[in-house]
Amino acid sequence: MAIRHRYSIGIHGGAGDRPASPAQAGRIRESLRTTLEEGGARLAAGATALDTVVHCTRLLEDDPLYNAGYGSVPNSAGRFELEACVMDGQPLKAGAVTYVEHIRNPVELARRIMEKTPHVMLAGRGADDFAAANGIATVSQAYFQEGWGKYGRADENGYGTVGAVARDCAGNLAAATSTGGQKGKRPGRVGDSPLVGAGTYADNAGGAVSCTGWGEDFIRTALAAYLGFLIARQGLEAHTAARIAIEYLVTKVNGNGGFVLVDKTGSIAAAQSSAYLHCGWIEHGAEPKTALCAPLRIARAED
Ligand code: ASP
Repeated sequence: MAIRHRYSIGIHGGAGDRPASPAQAGRIRESLRTTLEEGGARLAAGATALDTVVHCTRLLEDDPLYNAGYGSVPNSAGRFELEACVMDGQPLKAGAVTYVEHIRNPVELARRIMEKTPHVMLAGRGADDFAAANGIATVSQAYFQEGWGKYGRADENGYGTVGAVARDCAGNLAAATSTGGQKGKRPGRVGDSPLVGAGTYADNAGGAVSCTGWGEDFIRTALAAYLGFLIARQGLEAHTAARIAIEYLVTKVNGNGGFVLVDKTGSIAAAQSSAYLHCGWIEHGAEPKTALCAPLRIARAED
């Protein structure tokens, strides 16, 4: 008989240094809670970790509170270029998309690339063509302009990348991350979120992680893979691995950001070097918890 495990799920809505307004913070916590409850209910009913992280990331992409999907932030040319990645920890398969301007839910496209092509990542026009041929919903740039304008978000610094990690009742792990990237980024800039091993990683032998923050810091430290290897190769549990990894991010590159992580036993950890990490989790099927700061924070040196 198959061994049944209790499920766990962790999600985030971005890291940054400026506090959300009290009204915004209330909305974010409510939205994270609703998303967690939905993800938890699905996992409890037997959904896979992969289905669940894609579903939860999609919900967050559709919410203009976040810098992903509908609420994505513009680049320096005023255009919206979106990115996403999904990784399934059982077969170690991944799909990713970058530099797309017309995909409503980049996480759905990333999943389709993983499942329907021999590739991991598609970009730009090739990604758009693949999306059109595979029934992925497309939108105009006006859709993102509208989302970005909601709740007065256009006046903000624009953090709010989203991500989800989960362990399902069969013990499989998955991770997903989606973003509009840095506000005012150079056109064509690629961040950590769509890069396997930088912003996103999942391996059943280790853990599943989704990162957020200054993407270049996570790329240079290969932080998501570093976390996965710490657990898989050194047998560490989530909290110990999270502490080592966030210290590594800060000591190596004075990196700015954070992550949520689930290990193969279902323990959840969230850590940050930024002032805020909007996050939430359900650990081993218990009550949902949301927070504006991760339980673990390592301060950076003054920039
Ligand atoms: N990591 C994302 C990027 O650099 C942005 C973020 O997480 O806020 O594109």
